[in-house]
Amino acid sequence: MTIQCAPPYGGAYLHLSAGGNNMDYNYLGKTNLKVSKVCFGSLTIGPLQANLSLKQGSKIIRHALERGVNFIDTAEIYDTYPYIREALKGYSKEVIIATKSYAYEASVMKESLEKARRELDRDVIDIFLLHEQESILTIKGHWQAVEYLLKAKAQGLVRAIGLSTHTVAGVKGALEIPEMEIIHPLINYQGLGILDGTRDEMLSLLKQGKSMGKGIYGMKPIGGGNLLAEAEKALTWALQRPELDAVAVGMQSISEVNINLALAEGREPDPEDLEIVKNKVRYLLIEDYCEGCGACVAKCPQKALQIIEARAKVEKEKCLLCGYCAGVCPYFAIKVI
Ligand code: SF4
Ligand code: SF4
Repeated sequence: MTIQCAPPYGGAYLHLSAGGNNMDYNYLGKTNLKVSKVCFGSLTIGPLQANLSLKQGSKIIRHALERGVNFIDTAEIYDTYPYIREALKGYSKEVIIATKSYAYEASVMKESLEKARRELDRDVIDIFLLHEQESILTIKGHWQAVEYLLKAKAQGLVRAIGLSTHTVAGVKGALEIPEMEIIHPLINYQGLGILDGTRDEMLSLLKQGKSMGKGIYGMKPIGGGNLLAEAEKALTWALQRPELDAVAVGMQSISEVNINLALAEGREPDPEDLEIVKNKVRYLLIEDYCEGCGACVAKCPQKALQIIEARAKVEKEKCLLCGYCAGVCPYFAIKVI
């Protein structure tokens, strides 16, 4: 049966084949972690993006959990542990949480793991990733941190380890290292944001990773907002990729959760939800009081920022609205809204 979905954010209509009303769950590679195809990407609710109140943000996560999502993606830099902890209060079903750290050294990774355990109120962290690895060289540069995670895994404090990456070379590096069980790559149907190659080069390596038993969950299926005009097409493309066990989708409202879950389950989204989110536009705001210090420029993985006339300027075509720049601005002068 074919259903027609009105576009949530404007743009072309999409025809989907109805595939039942239930969320799909997959094992992440050879791990025993069984996750929902839709992973709640928590970056979008936190201080780097919507900066929702604890109550608002946790309510949105809880709403997703109660509708079948059992997988949440976070990172130390996102500062969203408090939202997740609040959302899980009194929730009895199993929820798999993946987090990430930039740590290079064992001692710093230890601090990252302890912070995650403490702030998420969990004895065991399901998935711990090296954040934003670029190649086999950067992975090797973080080897002390990897060794610490392997030790923590042997002690039962972590269930699986891996890396996140915006590059084809990062995925290639993960394939060369047996200890990297989970890969969290940037992938969307236009290949937007992949720093060193094409969508098909990325997919080819992910297919290889899948056949090797790596657990793979994608990020930025809507290109960090740049594919909002064709959001259903982009999300459906990602959700239907056989290379991906799950897809992390950033959500900032109950309506966005409802629409994304409807698309994942082959249902027609509620027209009221579509109406609520259709005019939503997200962008990077750089305040007039930017001091031009350049900290955001150095942080941007997409090389989308530069200092022009003593102020940060963004190249919109390159920006994925990840908000990583916001986390390093000493003046809170840059944010995704
Ligand atoms: S980090 Fe903040 S103050 Fe520094 S250049 Fe970027 S936006 Fe401006
Ligand atoms: S400019 Fe900021 S929001 Fe845009 S890609 Fe770079 S770090 Fe991410």
